[in-house]
Amino acid sequence: GSVKRTGAYEVPIGTPIKKLLYDIAGGPPKGKSIKAVQLGGPSGGCVPSDMFDLPMDYDSLQSAGAIMGSGGMVVLDNTNCMVDMARFFLSFTTAESCGMCSVGRIGTRLMYEALKRITNGEGNADDIELLKETSDVMQKACLCALGRTAPNPVLTTLRYFENEYADHIEAKKCEALICKALVTYRMNPEKCKGCMVCVKSCPVQAISGEKGSTPTIDPTNCIKCGTCADDCPFDAIEKLAGIIANQSVKLEEGFCQ
Ligand code: SF4
Ligand code: SF4
Repeated sequence: GSVKRTGAYEVPIGTPIKKLLYDIAGGPPKGKSIKAVQLGGPSGGCVPSDMFDLPMDYDSLQSAGAIMGSGGMVVLDNTNCMVDMARFFLSFTTAESCGMCSVGRIGTRLMYEALKRITNGEGNADDIELLKETSDVMQKACLCALGRTAPNPVLTTLRYFENEYADHIEAKKCEALICKALVTYRMNPEKCKGCMVCVKSCPVQAISGEKGSTPTIDPTNCIKCGTCADDCPFDAIEKLAGIIANQSVKLEEGFCQ
């Protein structure tokens, strides 16, 4: 994850998370800040940065909602979206569920679909209730440990990063700029030189304009691939959190949704 020295480390049980992250693994790369660690693999849970004094032992991790599991630790920084992270881990446990008990088979699928809706900007408050209720049932009724622990990434992200769920559902934005449906690309007229490089580089011809002027992006065609922003020689295309509701405003101002 997001540390200077990734690797396999052996530390005594009870070592604080902070010591492993900063003293041994060197802390985050330049310009990044660590916001959480995911402990114990896809069925584990996340622990936020304000709890990094926590000792890594079985009871302490369990009380925080995580598990020792395989001993794996994924370090997440400010460019990671915690909701998308939960969606990613649920995609794994959904695929790995053997299907023997219906609670695990259907429960993982229900949670994965809810997380997909939320990261696609289609979530609502009912999805949060569904995630909580399904987690509760799975923890109590699944036949195997995979099913009983699969809700951990969801429950811990809801517990420690509820604000990110609210951003996705209510404000329709992803501050980490990870969830494509919840970001906007915009030309900055103050930086744009009207060179038209972006018009040529867009793979779906979503950008139009005349040489010498600031082009516009057609939000109905844009697939948010980011190619235009990567190719702009003047760094004039910004990727912003959130979507713009009014399409005509977007077109006039060069926004794409
Ligand atoms: S590539 Fe950049 S500078 Fe050139 S027209 Fe597009 S936004 Fe403007
Ligand atoms: S982000 Fe949108 S406008 Fe930019 S290159 Fe991709 S599809 Fe085209």
